[in-house]
Amino acid sequence: MNMTYRVKVDELGRLVLPKQMRINLNIKPEDKVFIELIDNVLSISKVNNQCIFCDKEIGLVTFKDRYVCVNCFEDLNIKKYKFI
Ligand SMILES: [Zn+2]
Repeated sequence: MNMTYRVKVDELGRLVLPKQMRINLNIKPEDKVFIELIDNVLSISKVNNQCIFCDKEIGLVTFKDRYVCVNCFEDLNIKKYKFI
């Protein structure tokens, strides 16, 4: 699906993601996003998988439907887990 909106950047450089885009990307308050500039095109995408403790995005395991990195997981001293 392609969408184009015209939004205004405020004096601090902030802009509001249009509601329909947030709905389509399932972006909720406090979610993190990647912002990339590639060939003068700004791209925003949701950060989907990150450790609930340290925000690391690699080496994740799942625990009770949440993502935890291996280091934090070992700190929890849990024996059974599933690598993703
Ligand atoms: Zn972690």
